[in-house]
Amino acid sequence: IEQQAFDYLLIGGLAIGASVFVTLFFIVAPYGRHTRAGWGPTVSSVTGWLMMEIPAAAGFAVFFLIGTGFRVSTVWIFLLLWEAHYIHRSLVYPWRMRGSKKQMPLLIVGFGITFNLWNTYLNGRYLGVSSGEFSAAWFYGPRFLVGLALFVTGMAINIHSDQILFRLRAKSAAGYQIPRGGLYRLVSCPNYFGEIIEWCGWALATWSVPGLVFALWTMANLVPRAHSHHKWYKNQFEDYPEKRKAVFPFVF
Ligand code: NDP
Repeated sequence: IEQQAFDYLLIGGLAIGASVFVTLFFIVAPYGRHTRAGWGPTVSSVTGWLMMEIPAAAGFAVFFLIGTGFRVSTVWIFLLLWEAHYIHRSLVYPWRMRGSKKQMPLLIVGFGITFNLWNTYLNGRYLGVSSGEFSAAWFYGPRFLVGLALFVTGMAINIHSDQILFRLRAKSAAGYQIPRGGLYRLVSCPNYFGEIIEWCGWALATWSVPGLVFALWTMANLVPRAHSHHKWYKNQFEDYPEKRKAVFPFVF
């Protein structure tokens, strides 16, 4: 029965992801620079990020550890990678943005928690139960090693790019400036680019359908938002660098 529920959640979630992708080109998620009235009660952004991301850090550990399948100790590296991302996202990232006075609609927080619980269940449960199927040799193989390299590189790009934004914000209280340096030379949202690379790496390293669905969802969420950010920058700054793309260097 659980296998059937798992499959429905996976397929249903993929279908919802496809419609989210299209919808977000028309309705920009109302947080950050796209905040606007009319989306119900709000909480501070810092609280919002904490509430959204802690379930992903805690939930994955639970689902992974209650799995019965893992005999290969190296499989714990998946737990390590996931927690490295989500402990940073839930506890370090909000602290890095602690100067922010912005509010975020509770609705966004609710969506974030729902997504994280769904995604965490699929990835954590899958790896907890089926990790016995990963042979020790898997962890020396090309898919795992390339996936790992992508994950680590993506995470570094994401953190470094967010750091550039936080430094800009420290200089100009609540305002926005044109970010420069790093991959901002090529795209408006290298933090999103890094995040996408990271979860593509996860999909490759785990070679799993839940991993692939997560990577697709990350794109469905972040590509339309990068498009909105990019348009916003171009409207806001006359001298915005012409050649810069939205999220994928030289492409889009
Ligand atoms: P943004 O790039 O919109 O903002 C990041 C932070 O930098 C915010 O605090 C923002 O302030 C500030 N900032 C943005 N641009 C400027 C600027 N030009 N000058 C000064 N400060 C600026 O990212 P998000 O808030 O959408 O996302 C935050 C993180 O979460 C990212 O690392 C992203 O990759 C990740 N994320 C992952 C998702 C996934 O599906 N896996 C989904 C959503 C986010 P302000 O809030 O005031 O705009």
